[in-house]
Amino acid sequence: MSETIHDILTRAVRRLTAAGVPDASWDAKELLEWAGGPDRSRLPLMGEEPLVEDAAARFEEGVRRREQRVPLQQITGRTWFMGLPFAVSDKVLCPRPDTENLVERAVRAAEAMAPPRILDLCCGSGCIGVSLAHFLPQARIVLSDVSEEALALARRNAALNGVADRVSFACGDLLDAVIPETGEPLGAFDIICCNPPYIPGGEIETLMPEVRDHEPRLALDGGEDGLDFYRRLAADLSRVSGNAAPEDAPAPLLFLEIGCEQGPAVREIFENTGRYRVLVHPDLAGLDRVAECVPRPRKD
Ligand code: GLN
Repeated sequence: MSETIHDILTRAVRRLTAAGVPDASWDAKELLEWAGGPDRSRLPLMGEEPLVEDAAARFEEGVRRREQRVPLQQITGRTWFMGLPFAVSDKVLCPRPDTENLVERAVRAAEAMAPPRILDLCCGSGCIGVSLAHFLPQARIVLSDVSEEALALARRNAALNGVADRVSFACGDLLDAVIPETGEPLGAFDIICCNPPYIPGGEIETLMPEVRDHEPRLALDGGEDGLDFYRRLAADLSRVSGNAAPEDAPAPLLFLEIGCEQGPAVREIFENTGRYRVLVHPDLAGLDRVAECVPRPRKD
């Protein structure tokens, strides 16, 4: 007599709990559905039935990987962000609900502009840029990343969400992806959104195993104090919209995701350029999460 679905789930939850997986029961049910078994809504009716063989094998494989603390989203290859579906791989950070805060703020700011031009810098999976394209049908959006593999996934996510014809892609290190040598066209953007790597290098070893062992360092490591990318971005922005830039070159409005203790340092970095006033916004948990850098009117 083969095991029932209920028994199989119970055993999986025990294994995941023993492995230290935080939401073992939720994850086991997600893996069951991904494997081809019943989804939550059908479990009450089907719990006493056996699981078809193919689904049982796939479920076992999924549970085995989750026991090794591979993120659930990397196993199932998908997640949701801003209510939209996104493909996920081990080449990008899994989109985090914290980042929705940044998108909401950017959408509100963009709605007040004539068709805005927006850059999603360090786009990773494309969750920010693709969501913006979804919510702002008039906007022109560029997604850039240093990783070709991330960009390939961002392209897939643009197609998955039906916005591929309204976004474009650029590969390169930070602003190098979008500024040619002449330095002119940064003014081509009204808004730049960026969720850069911002974890201090030495802290990565202290993160949960899902992040520490399975998400790309390239997307996490912000250098010794985690602030490298903000410093580089501020310097690059001064290069193209600072004193050397044409008098009327507008600076873009910036929405930057930050670590919860980085607000004061990021404010200082961007206010020191003389070009920005910085507002630090908390997320729903009350932790500083977004630095909004508002361009100052040019005086010189
Ligand atoms: N907030 C992410 C984490 O806690 C890090 C995101 C980033 O470095 N951009 O893992």
